[in-house]
Amino acid sequence: MIQTQPNCTDRVETGLIHFDTARANILSSVTAIGGAHRLPIEQARGRTLACAVTAPIDVPAHTNSAVDGYALRSEDLPGSGTTGRFTIVGRAFAGKPFEGELAAGQCVRIMTGAPMPAGCDTVIMQEQVERSGESILIDAAHRPGQNVRQAGEDLRRGETALPAGRLLTPPDIGLCASLGIAELPVRRKLRVAIASTGDEIFDVGAVPGNGGIYDSNRYSLLATLHRPDIEVVDLGILQDRPELLLDAFNGIADHADVIISSGGVSVGDADHIKTALQTSGQIEFWKVAIKPGRPMAFGSIGGAAFFGLPGNPVAVLVTFYLLVLPALEKMLGITDRPVAPMLKARALEPIRKRPGRTEVQRGILLRDDDGAWTVKTTGKQGSGILRSMSLADAFIILPHDSGNIDAGDWVTVQPFAGLW
Ligand code: AMP
Ligand code: MG
Repeated sequence: MIQTQPNCTDRVETGLIHFDTARANILSSVTAIGGAHRLPIEQARGRTLACAVTAPIDVPAHTNSAVDGYALRSEDLPGSGTTGRFTIVGRAFAGKPFEGELAAGQCVRIMTGAPMPAGCDTVIMQEQVERSGESILIDAAHRPGQNVRQAGEDLRRGETALPAGRLLTPPDIGLCASLGIAELPVRRKLRVAIASTGDEIFDVGAVPGNGGIYDSNRYSLLATLHRPDIEVVDLGILQDRPELLLDAFNGIADHADVIISSGGVSVGDADHIKTALQTSGQIEFWKVAIKPGRPMAFGSIGGAAFFGLPGNPVAVLVTFYLLVLPALEKMLGITDRPVAPMLKARALEPIRKRPGRTEVQRGILLRDDDGAWTVKTTGKQGSGILRSMSLADAFIILPHDSGNIDAGDWVTVQPFAGLW
């Protein structure tokens, strides 16, 4: 009897693992890297905060006015149906506080951000007073304490301002500056080595020989990894020779935290990643029930985690974002980051989908007249058609058990806006 190899046109295929299982296995196998150092806050955006930041002062440091107006004592506010007249006895600026103390019936002209003068607890907006010379008239429509920002209302001294594991954002950096903090402890960068494999693969700038194609995967990966917390080691294009692959990966394994290759993980005669690695690392070869992206290798070589991604350019990006990136972020120690949005959108057209694998189509998001999200695919979805991804705004993620989608059905969509 002829033993046939499984392929992607088979109805029922052996040895496929569920996408969720692959992701869970990967995540449970990697751990956060050690090593941290201090960085000036202006360089810390996009880095992982290594220890929590505790507020060293109250923010705001002083109780101050929230508006331009007049500061006075709330006990002097006029009763209902009456008006009150106040004499202006001085001026308070943000950089030049009023030093005196107020008596009954007095007020201070105050600007936004100026510390509240002693004895004052209430500010009347300048638009709500009738001014004549050096006095003002106000009506009864005011509340004690209004238009005042209390010391410590943003952050109290001793409070946790940012937790360890935070992926630092622009407002986080501003928050640290508001606390007078000039440097932050951050985790070191993750070192990621990347390689393309294939005798047919040529770098941009070269002239592809017979049957040759340009290397897009390494540039897609370079671009996805171009972020402040990652340092890339570019291993270039490796020929389809097991000993050459092994040399390259062994050579970098102790200097990188992660190695990512593309191509050579299938069952073709030139697919040598498997042979190369089985002797030298802990490598598992999986067929993941995901389209695109079925064949992949995962494991470790020396001190480095190893991801052997498929060769097809769309499969590389799909597996990178859905399986590799979550692992890189775990290794980076990121435990607190702005949520990546997932939307529900109505399909604008039917989508063919076979139960038994997660399918990741590339979609264009639109909003209908009611403001609800709708989505259509970018057309031909072959795993080599990189334009299907370049045109897209989002992944349309069709879960393992789902069958065909009808126009009007709800589908889950992961916008790229949260990814790059
Ligand atoms: P493989 O799994 O190595 O057979 O690759 C699958 C398909 O992806 C083949 O058509 C390859 O030519 C193509 N491919 C592999 N690596 C790259 C690359 N770096 N850039 C563009 N296409 C690639
Ligand atoms: Mg190949």
